[in-house]
Amino acid sequence: MSTTHHTLVILGGGPAGLTAGLYAARARMDHLLIEKGAEGGQVLLTDWIDNYPGFPEGLTGFDLAEKMTAQAKRFDLNSMFGNVLSMDLSAPVKTLELESGESISCDTLIISSGASPRALDVPGEKELTGKGVSYCATCDAPFYRNLHVAVVGGGNTAVQEAAHLTKFAHRVTLIHRRDQLRATKVVQEKAFANDKIDFIWDTTVTAIEGKDGVESLDLLNRDGTVSSLAVDGIFVLIGVIANNTMLPLRELNADQGGFIPTDCEMRTAVDGVFAAGDIRSKNVRQVINAAGEGATAVLSAEEYLHIIH
Ligand SMILES: Cc1cc2nc3c(=O)[nH]c(=O)nc-3n(C[C@H](O)[C@H](O)[C@H](O)COP(=O)(O)OP(=O)(O)OC[C@H]3O[C@@H](n4cnc5c(N)ncnc54)[C@H](O)[C@@H]3O)c2cc1C
Repeated sequence: MSTTHHTLVILGGGPAGLTAGLYAARARMDHLLIEKGAEGGQVLLTDWIDNYPGFPEGLTGFDLAEKMTAQAKRFDLNSMFGNVLSMDLSAPVKTLELESGESISCDTLIISSGASPRALDVPGEKELTGKGVSYCATCDAPFYRNLHVAVVGGGNTAVQEAAHLTKFAHRVTLIHRRDQLRATKVVQEKAFANDKIDFIWDTTVTAIEGKDGVESLDLLNRDGTVSSLAVDGIFVLIGVIANNTMLPLRELNADQGGFIPTDCEMRTAVDGVFAAGDIRSKNVRQVINAAGEGATAVLSAEEYLHIIH
């Protein structure tokens, strides 16, 4: 199989990768964006995006993905479909191995492979994602005005987002598999003081029921009791998983969750390798951050190339 070489390779075509692609294409850098699925990344998982500036009426995730792609393509984005399985970052010229058997080498690499929401992995979840099953309260809370929603999780994100949801939903039921929360005490105290939040302890969701949207949840208590809870939506906030199986995690100094630390210029621990978007070790995972980091990563890659040449 052939090996092709590019000055810059961008791994992943979500908002971070597409923005990196836009900046690289406009800078007339010799670049290649590799995406294994559809360009747009996680944005394609959400029905509606209301918090990306420039779209006062909001837009669908699909539309935003399409617009980002079209904008990069207007400047001749060079992209291909391919699944990167592994890479060698030990030499100045980095090499990526694709599932197709192809090798691609580059002088600089931007890792923008993103993350995937951790799923409950129960019946009904996949089918109803975007139809009442959500993984992002910041994004989808306004759709549940005056409705009843469940939040699954017990960490800071779940408890804080449950409180955020009470600004919209008339009732929020937090379901946790243990008998106490993991969230920090102050966060817990606020949630306990909020009379719109009620708690179901020691309980897991075993199925999500509904035809065109979420209607109810099947619950299993630790003592074996089975019950059903009628809700209009469920927020699964049990963490995200880094898309990192193809990355040399030790070399990149990955954090405990497998996310990649960078400095504020998106430089990783490996010279010439940058990370942008949800794959980065950070707290806020939103489209706007991913896009900004994609832009910064390209400018840093350009600077790196100036220094080495
Ligand atoms: C349901 C949901 C709703 C959301 N709603 C909002 C919202 O309203 N507003 C908001 O700001 N944010 C929202 N977010 C968060 C937002 O989608 C992410 O922060 C953003 O998409 C991150 O962009 P990214 O480019 O870093 O990664 P991703 O979007 O995860 O894209 C990474 C891309 O890399 C590709 N990739 C991964 N591994 C490989 C590989 N080995 N080879 C080739 N390609 C690979 C993936 O296929 C993917 O396309 C939402 C997230 C979810 C899950």
